[in-house]
Amino acid sequence: MALTLHVDGARWRAAQDAAIAANPGLVPVVKGNGYGFGREVLYAEANRLRVTMIAVGTYAEVPGALAGFSGDVLVMEPFRAAIHAAIHAATQAGLPSVDDGRLVHTITTRVDLDGLLAANPAARTVVEGLTSMGRFGAPAARVGDLVAAGRGEGVTLHLPLGSGHVDEISRFVEAVGGIRPFFVSHTTADEVAALRRRFPEHRFAARVGTDLWLADRAAYEMRSHVLDVRPLAKGDRVGYRQRPQAAGHLVVVSGGTSHGVAMESPASAATARSRAIAVAEGMLEAVHRVRSPFTVGGTMPRFAEPPHMQCSLLALPDGVAPPSVGDTVPVRMRLTTAYPDAVVIE
Ligand SMILES: *Cc1c(COP(=O)(O)O)cnc(C)c1O
Repeated sequence: MALTLHVDGARWRAAQDAAIAANPGLVPVVKGNGYGFGREVLYAEANRLRVTMIAVGTYAEVPGALAGFSGDVLVMEPFRAAIHAAIHAATQAGLPSVDDGRLVHTITTRVDLDGLLAANPAARTVVEGLTSMGRFGAPAARVGDLVAAGRGEGVTLHLPLGSGHVDEISRFVEAVGGIRPFFVSHTTADEVAALRRRFPEHRFAARVGTDLWLADRAAYEMRSHVLDVRPLAKGDRVGYRQRPQAAGHLVVVSGGTSHGVAMESPASAATARSRAIAVAEGMLEAVHRVRSPFTVGGTMPRFAEPPHMQCSLLALPDGVAPPSVGDTVPVRMRLTTAYPDAVVIE
């Protein structure tokens, strides 16, 4: 009675191994929902991969990462001295994570660097450069000084989707000078290889999540249990909203909004028309107009109404053989927004 992520362990690990082999020095990213597998599972995989560093998204993820992973932990959100001071004041608790020798902090300003070094003179840092991404970073002209002032271990660069990465990173490498590792995000293995050819004296390491953990879609499958099945006559009303249904079967399956079902962007809706409806009506309101992500009897039935918190009501059309209670059905979900009840690695 659960939404379960089934993983073919051998196949999943072979894909991870291939991603590392194709991109030497790769730093696995373990953040958020752990790409559907959960962060604990991914810390264990990172240990298995024998990488020396992982990257986490936020300071909130630091304690778990230090406990679950044995190597260095790079925090990708920049250290903000003012925010850390405010948290400290609010909780009266120290922030021991700032002191851990396995932590590597991301710095974008001098004020934050000074604040960090005041809290821990031995703090390890990398300096993030401001790319066309425009999220966090110090302008290229200031990166070198910040690295020097903090005895920084490298420079990080986060690139937007698209092409032109090699040129943009190259401009940074030339502007920053010195020989140091560059940690690059959203840069393909081919682009990293091109950078190594262009700057053989520098070290480049890609920070990768999706193309490491979700590299082989055939290695995992989300499965839902069929919880109830009943015939529907044309016009029968069901659900919170008592919408009239077509003839067929009502199929109740595990998996709802709390698991991330139907949380995908309208871009994943099948047609331009269904995307337009989804945008106009709001995603959750419009889901009964688009196909559900559940595959039942070889079809993807519509939702009878928007998904509930932990289960969903599907309207199986007349003529499609209904499943039995207890059957499992596959669910197509984007794993970066999925929260399964269980992960089974076989
Ligand atoms: C999330 C994130 C990554 C990893 O992104 P994927 O698309 O999952 O590989 C890399 N760098 C930064 C800065 C990120 O925030």
